[in-house]
Amino acid sequence: MIPILKKFLSLELYTKILIALVVGALFGAIFNVDRHRVQIEYGPDGEVNTADIRNWENITVYAKDREWNFGRSEQDALIRNIERLRPSERRQARIEVTKIDETTGERETRTYEIIRSVESVGTIATAVRPIGTIFIRLLTFIAIPLVISSLIVGATSLSDLTKVATIGAKTIGYYVFTTSIAISIGLIAANLIQPGIRMPEEPRERFIAEYQDDVEARIDEELEVNIIDQIVNMVPTNPLGAMAEGEMLQIVFFGIVFGLILTTIPREKAEPVIKVFEGIMDAMIKLVEFVMKIAPYGVFALIAATVGEFGFDILGTLVWYVMAVILGLLIHMFITYGILLKSLSSMPYIYFFKEIRPVQLIAFSTSSSAATLPVNMRTGEEKMGCSKETTSFILPLGATINMDGTALYQGVAAVFIAQVYGFDLTIAQQLTVVLTATLASIGTAPVPGVGIIMLIIVLRAIGVPEEGVALILGVDRILDMMRTLTNVTGDAAANIIISESEDKRADVENRAM
Ligand code: ASP
Repeated sequence: MIPILKKFLSLELYTKILIALVVGALFGAIFNVDRHRVQIEYGPDGEVNTADIRNWENITVYAKDREWNFGRSEQDALIRNIERLRPSERRQARIEVTKIDETTGERETRTYEIIRSVESVGTIATAVRPIGTIFIRLLTFIAIPLVISSLIVGATSLSDLTKVATIGAKTIGYYVFTTSIAISIGLIAANLIQPGIRMPEEPRERFIAEYQDDVEARIDEELEVNIIDQIVNMVPTNPLGAMAEGEMLQIVFFGIVFGLILTTIPREKAEPVIKVFEGIMDAMIKLVEFVMKIAPYGVFALIAATVGEFGFDILGTLVWYVMAVILGLLIHMFITYGILLKSLSSMPYIYFFKEIRPVQLIAFSTSSSAATLPVNMRTGEEKMGCSKETTSFILPLGATINMDGTALYQGVAAVFIAQVYGFDLTIAQQLTVVLTATLASIGTAPVPGVGIIMLIIVLRAIGVPEEGVALILGVDRILDMMRTLTNVTGDAAANIIISESEDKRADVENRAM
């Protein structure tokens, strides 16, 4: 055992993370949560009991003067149904479980009252999740101090407002451009593959019934994207509030303004402030280095828990949809970014995709561009040769507004849902998808699972039923991983191209080769 461990520890970081990912996925698949088993906690205070239920024929929940029925394979829907009841409603609820006795073949029914919870039974794969959560939390906590300090330090060395404005305009223009290409690729893939037409009738109705309440809860959230509001919101009323809330665009705005202003006050006053932020920045970079040492264990835990909880059955019916999204993402990543890097920078294709791999693996396992930001910044400076000033501006901005993967996914999902409902989207409607998905992806927060909420805006704009989101909720986690990976790759490519156009990139690749 020990020699294997030694060998593992001596491997390159990327290889370690990759091994962790594969082993984590296998581990999760082996210790998959049993889909035909739930534990019901019930009974009055002081007398709480737990019933372990397996292989039920039917479970009926009576609550709020209504009844809901759940068949054999509807564990997920059952658990969500109970979670949505208030504790007081749960206590008044009754659950009837019907089973068929295997030996006698007789039907038996048991009733449980005063319900406290209904849960699936975790396995060792889901039990390791806290390790993964600590890993994500560490990365997320580094992000804000790192961004703010490196922006301030970077801006003090720029000291030229017109320069900042040009880089800003260039970056935003580039981001909007690549995002619209991404959606177009998504639309083409969905129109060619036609995943919605290939979906059978039966699962379609089942998914809609199963996820309906969930979707309603999401639709209730306030959803609005408005360009003017977004620009106005970039200006923080309270910089500390912006940091506390993790409002990345406001933080970027504050960092630049503060850094530039520092250069206009007397040097002896500015100097100590800059030194403090330099110190914070160095400490945060050191912390990234440390956190990356535990990355393989974090990645293992995250993937094991995710795969352990995932119901694979759903993949079968949605395979064409999942394939259309993944195909689109791969084309955008390897072809669009490849062409852009080749024509707008001197970065060799192979070098880029080799050095970006650890960043991609972190994005894939955390599903969060924000958590991946510190690693992306470090790679941008150390491996891609981009300057601190440009990296600390382009990447945080990109993590917040540039989500090519999310936009592409929204394009495919919108067409897919429209196809399932029998809508034929006109060219004008598809153009509306390009426009709204660009805005929706800009408004998507860089954390797991937000892309699907913003998809509702796109559906609304083209008049496709919002409940359609229910069809794709079950596979969203996997696609979230893939689209986040694409999102961060897009940011990294933008950093190289824009830094180089500003003469802010060193030729590290040739030195490394
Ligand atoms: N998880 C994505 C990200 O952080 C956002 C999304 O599409 O849900 O980049």
